[in-house]
Amino acid sequence: MQALLTVIVTWLSINFGLPAIYEHPQVEFVSAAKMADVRYSRLASNRREGVAAEAGYLAPTEPGHDVHAIYDDLSRTIYLPEGWTGETPAEVSVLVHELVHHLQNVALLKYDCSEAREKPAYQAQARWLELFDKNLAEEFEIDEMTVLVLTNCMH
Ligand SMILES: [Zn+2]
Repeated sequence: MQALLTVIVTWLSINFGLPAIYEHPQVEFVSAAKMADVRYSRLASNRREGVAAEAGYLAPTEPGHDVHAIYDDLSRTIYLPEGWTGETPAEVSVLVHELVHHLQNVALLKYDCSEAREKPAYQAQARWLELFDKNLAEEFEIDEMTVLVLTNCMH
């Protein structure tokens, strides 16, 4: 995992100008139930701190629609779903997305809104999938319109 994180951070810094900071996050594998708990407590604490939570996670989870991963700024932890092996481009792309949030966090990058923080994360995830002729729509049912909504400040 450490080697994979190093490779992805390097790739992100070259392709997206993100800072090449090699203080890797913790990575934990959690059940769907634990993921829901983490998401809930994170939403609650984010509200307290006046920081909007990750846009994609604000909506209640639809049945049959997984929450793929979460990054927690405070503990610098990426929560991946149990069963994640990193064997498919889609699985690794989830790690790429969360690693962008980790770099944003450790580099103290500022964004106008939580959606703007998502923009580089989705761009990097989409670019990673492109390397394997995949895309967000096919792999995650996230179409271009959804990406626009998730990644642009609406106020
Ligand atoms: Zn995100």
